[in-house]
Amino acid sequence: MIPASFEYKRARSVKAAIELLADGNAKVLSGGHSLVPALKLRLNQPEMLVDIARIASLKGIKVSGKELVIGSTTTHQEIASSDIVKEHLSILAEGAGAIGDVQVRNKGTLGGSLAHADPSADWPALVLVSNAKVVLEGSGGERTLNAADFFTGFFSTALASDEIITEIRFPIPAKGTKSTYQKFVQPASRFALVGCAAMREPSGETRVAFSGVADAAFRDTGIENAISGKTLTAENINHAVSDTAKGQDIMSDHYASEEYRVHLAKVFAKRALMALA
Ligand SMILES: Cc1cc2nc3c(=O)[nH]c(=O)nc-3n(C[C@H](O)[C@H](O)[C@H](O)COP(=O)(O)OP(=O)(O)OC[C@H]3O[C@@H](n4cnc5c(N)ncnc54)[C@H](O)[C@@H]3O)c2cc1C
Repeated sequence: MIPASFEYKRARSVKAAIELLADGNAKVLSGGHSLVPALKLRLNQPEMLVDIARIASLKGIKVSGKELVIGSTTTHQEIASSDIVKEHLSILAEGAGAIGDVQVRNKGTLGGSLAHADPSADWPALVLVSNAKVVLEGSGGERTLNAADFFTGFFSTALASDEIITEIRFPIPAKGTKSTYQKFVQPASRFALVGCAAMREPSGETRVAFSGVADAAFRDTGIENAISGKTLTAENINHAVSDTAKGQDIMSDHYASEEYRVHLAKVFAKRALMALA
């Protein structure tokens, strides 16, 4: 449990961080609550850690036009307790408040969670269901990706090695949009064995995304197509969730078999849609 040796640099600006990252085998350090365990297990052995946690421009929550913009080093706790988030996109506060324990929430960051792309983490389902955009900056400049294009598979993303996530832009939903995050926790870590995020706009358009179920978080278009525009009756909901997670690469481990995870996903999709009703 002792990491391989590495150099530590604290970046004072995004530009400085990118320059350090371009210079060889370096990794970004934000809250450290996923990276430090990985270093201790020697799953990662970077030559340098570039600490971005104190870059002021990466922190904060604001409304800009029709978007809620959250800086990448904003902690889970800052989001969970933010009045701006509660007012405009309460599902984010709900989901952030369900992460780990108080220590994890006080140190772990939104950007760190997205970059790590743990299939059992809560943020991936939350950014997918809210149609968020992930803003990246690297030596080649800035680019903005839809959340759906950012995640590319098991613990993998579209992030290049010299890029950092700077902010996440969430469209503010129409007034009257309902949302919920329903989570079945792994009792020790509190990661999601199943996390189901659901949103329903006044038009009836409904989005449903899962964490914890498959090798990467995903939008369940089968459920979405079956329930969008329909009344949320028990019969319609039961029909919509009947093929939950169809076509996904379902995880199986010593906590939950593939069959049990699919069962849980159905139960939590049903709970989420009932909550929206
Ligand atoms: C006991 C425990 C329980 C937990 N329970 C939960 C849970 O219930 N739900 C949940 O979702 N998570 C959980 N986590 C994970 C936690 O939320 C982490 O904090 C989070 O996944 C990573 O964020 P971080 O800021 O700590 O990132 P770090 O650990 O600093 O970094 C993680 C990875 O992301 C990269 N990175 C970090 N920030 C950026 C950035 N801005 N741009 C580019 N790359 C970046 C790093 O290089 C590294 O590869 C738990 C962790 C622990 C230790």
